[in-house]
Amino acid sequence: MLKIIKYPDTFLRKASQPINRFDGDLKEMAMAMAQTMYTDDGIGLAGPQVGLSQQIVVMGDRNGHSYTVYVNPEVTFFSKDKTVTEEGCLSLPQIFGLVRRSKKIHIKYKDLDGQSHKEKIKGFQAIVLQHEIDHLNGILFIDRAERITKGQEILDKLKND
Ligand SMILES: [Zn+2]
Repeated sequence: MLKIIKYPDTFLRKASQPINRFDGDLKEMAMAMAQTMYTDDGIGLAGPQVGLSQQIVVMGDRNGHSYTVYVNPEVTFFSKDKTVTEEGCLSLPQIFGLVRRSKKIHIKYKDLDGQSHKEKIKGFQAIVLQHEIDHLNGILFIDRAERITKGQEILDKLKND
């Protein structure tokens, strides 16, 4: 189990570095991230959230059975067609907000073996990935939220701490 870094830790604001070693350590880290994500009931987790300033994202399926690892992910296309979804984050427990994001994205990324992939993603997965890739750039969903729906008082307190 990895420790989750929580807002307002400034580590969450750092931009992550690309990964260029595709070795056993990386695979172990991805597995530990997936375990942490599922234990904490998350659907996605990005490197900076576990104190790793590297471009890695782990995303689970909705049933909690499997996960996909995206190394050095990059969005190459954002659809103009947007949707508003209520988002939360393991780094901001009990806080939720409405965020407007593209319904479809195209991404390129590498897998754990360093192989390059391109994918067109839509729906729930597209939303989660945009949220997670934001983490790699030091952006949190509260930066983009049109409205905080739950936990505004917790957020206010954290901001003033
Ligand atoms: Zn998050």
